[in-house]
Amino acid sequence: MFSERMNRVRARMQELGVDVLLLSVGADLPWLTGYEALETERLTMLVLPRDGDATLVVPHLEAARVEERPAAFSVAPWDETDDPVAVVARLAAAPATAAIGDHTWARFLLDLQRALPRASFRKGSEITAPLRTVKDAFEVDALRDAAAAVDGIVIEMRERSFEGRTEKAVHRELVQRMLDAGHERANFAIVGSGPNGASPHHEPGGRVIEAGDVVVCDFGGSMRHYCSDITRLFVVGEPSQEVRDTYDVLFGAQEQAVRSATVGTPCAEVDATARRIITDAGFGDRFIHRTGHGIGVETHEDPYIVAGNTTPLVAGNVFSVEPGIYLPGRFGLRLEDIVVATADGPERLNHAPRDLAVVD
Ligand code: ZN
Ligand code: ZN
Ligand code: ZN
Repeated sequence: MFSERMNRVRARMQELGVDVLLLSVGADLPWLTGYEALETERLTMLVLPRDGDATLVVPHLEAARVEERPAAFSVAPWDETDDPVAVVARLAAAPATAAIGDHTWARFLLDLQRALPRASFRKGSEITAPLRTVKDAFEVDALRDAAAAVDGIVIEMRERSFEGRTEKAVHRELVQRMLDAGHERANFAIVGSGPNGASPHHEPGGRVIEAGDVVVCDFGGSMRHYCSDITRLFVVGEPSQEVRDTYDVLFGAQEQAVRSATVGTPCAEVDATARRIITDAGFGDRFIHRTGHGIGVETHEDPYIVAGNTTPLVAGNVFSVEPGIYLPGRFGLRLEDIVVATADGPERLNHAPRDLAVVD
């Protein structure tokens, strides 16, 4: 499957007239090869010529990490006194146009520009982003497994007590549970209680959760390089009528937006579907972010479910649908599932209960 991805990359390089693709830290490299570069001052870089074999230039002491992984490239380890930029420049073979991974450290790009003075550089994402939006069966499976893992955590959390604990404590529990459930990395765990829930990206802090609070839990991690991302709501004790009524609006908006996400529908239309329902209920100015984002080897990637994105959905697109309603100083509500567009219609990858979970 990695050589299949490499073929698609080469075809696109051909299309764009790019002679060599250079990938270092960031998600493009694991997507393409299964190997993720360590983020250190020692350069790791895949050199992928359009016509020719790919080579991974890697610090000698990290070469053993590569061998454990599936590989469609040869490995060129460099020793501590070697100049890895010179090795990359030699393998790149005087390209006219080079594409370089978006997350490559500036210090390496600047050195490479000096080593390849004739080359014009462009962003690696111009090649990889459109390919990464269409997931193959392996990728959908990996995303499904990651989604199932966080679904299980939601079900466990519904039995936990929240009252009297700090947001930070719940945050730590979510992080630990993600690791226990098979994620190699916990990427984030937002816990916004009571008024803090009205800030969508609230940083969990020392606030003690009280009776009556709505607690927004939005968390995700990486499993076999593929990301999970889910938001569910926990209410300490019976929710007020206002919380129930507002949640009904949000629930309907999320449901209709998911249903609208059929192949051929522009991304903007999915956003508009959720927004229309929330606006009609009088909360239009309380829904302060886009409806969703693509997800894969990165938590946020194309396609973005946002006004203005007229790109139609295609089978294999995987993205979040996560409308929210935020009432500053009071409470916030968000509901998020990951959805895959298929020829048979939209399919949710998350199956955890979507109701307001009443907890102690
Ligand atoms: Zn977010
Ligand atoms: Zn999320
Ligand atoms: Zn999300």
